[in-house]
Amino acid sequence: MTFTLGLDVGGTKIAAVVLDHNGTVVDDSVVPTDGHGISVIAQIWNLIDQKASSHALGGVGVAVPGNVDPSSGTVISAPNIRWDHVDLPTLIEPALRGSAEVSVINDANAAAWAEYRFGEQNPGDSFAMITVGTGTGTGTGIGGGFVLNGRLLNGATGAGGEIGHLTLIPDGEACSCGSKGCWERYASGSALHRAAVQAGWGPEKASHQLLESVGTRPEAEKLATTIQHLIRGMGLVAGVLDPTVIVLGGGLGTDPVFFDSEVAYYQELRITPPRSRPRLGKAHLGPLAGAIGAADLARPHARNRQCCPAASVMVNLHFGAQARQAPLGRSGVARHQRAHPGPGGGATALRRRRSTGARRRRRPNRRLPGHHALLVGFQHPPGPHAGTLQSRSQGGLLDASGAGSMRVTSHAAQQVKKCNPR
Ligand SMILES: [Zn+2]
Repeated sequence: MTFTLGLDVGGTKIAAVVLDHNGTVVDDSVVPTDGHGISVIAQIWNLIDQKASSHALGGVGVAVPGNVDPSSGTVISAPNIRWDHVDLPTLIEPALRGSAEVSVINDANAAAWAEYRFGEQNPGDSFAMITVGTGTGTGTGIGGGFVLNGRLLNGATGAGGEIGHLTLIPDGEACSCGSKGCWERYASGSALHRAAVQAGWGPEKASHQLLESVGTRPEAEKLATTIQHLIRGMGLVAGVLDPTVIVLGGGLGTDPVFFDSEVAYYQELRITPPRSRPRLGKAHLGPLAGAIGAADLARPHARNRQCCPAASVMVNLHFGAQARQAPLGRSGVARHQRAHPGPGGGATALRRRRSTGARRRRRPNRRLPGHHALLVGFQHPPGPHAGTLQSRSQGGLLDASGAGSMRVTSHAAQQVKKCNPR
């Protein structure tokens, strides 16, 4: 039986879950972390070693608190763990000794995917999750993740779903992002927290104390104001995305007092053009959601459904000076050629690509409009190895000289994906 490992990396802890082929959690653990750059990498290696010793891992998914380049798996920015342009797949795939592929995803998107797959009973094809933090610790703002027509929305730069900094109030309060009037300044636990502190509660548990004391008029008004701002933003989300259900997550979003109040005010939401409100739900999976989502997305069937983060890892490889341009097939679809095949995962991945190529040759061009690029040979683990990448429309090799890590354009990377939006 093959399992997948999901890791949710945060600034203070790393959650790990192992899913079996049915998507059932068979192993989970949480370890503290200091959130210091390279030491987090070492902890990820340790967790992989630990889980791989008791489960045959067929994939590893990592959720991170930051922007992830969807075509390469590179973590562009994750301030909480001090990562800046970290090529995570290349750093941790050697820990798997070629036995599994690594996919990387934003943590909020991973949590949304988990709730869509395993939390909400009737999520429909289009689903929105809005995470509302408590205003203390690391969960301070508003985050989100969306599934549209059955596929996770990653966006062009991996920032899809980052909705907390939409401008809700023009020229409103200054936000830590540098903008003004951001939604999370008015509708998250941070807003409730500030209101509670101004009312004289201590800063440690202010928002919870306010929620527990709701019933008196001043507290109720503060809560109502925060919820009304939240609903205003939810109306924008509903108007743009038209989801079947909006699920509230996060410490504040799932707080019983907050959620019950939210349900009451939600009945007033009007959407333009007029249509039914999306159903309002509460997240079910708790703090393991990100790890569960990352693990599920590392499973092959899920990669196909959400446009294959692992396929993008395929193109983020090391190329040597021997790299050369491969010829195009007669149909215009590139032929696969093995340049210098390597051991372990390289060979496995190559075989998988060959089968994909065979399918494409039977249906030339029909599912590959415009540009496409195909990887035809590589070695793993990384080193001074050879490989070629070709692009039909760009006319050949894409910067494959030298032994350093090569970044392929997202345009080319998209065409390597096994799934096709059409
Ligand atoms: Zn902001």
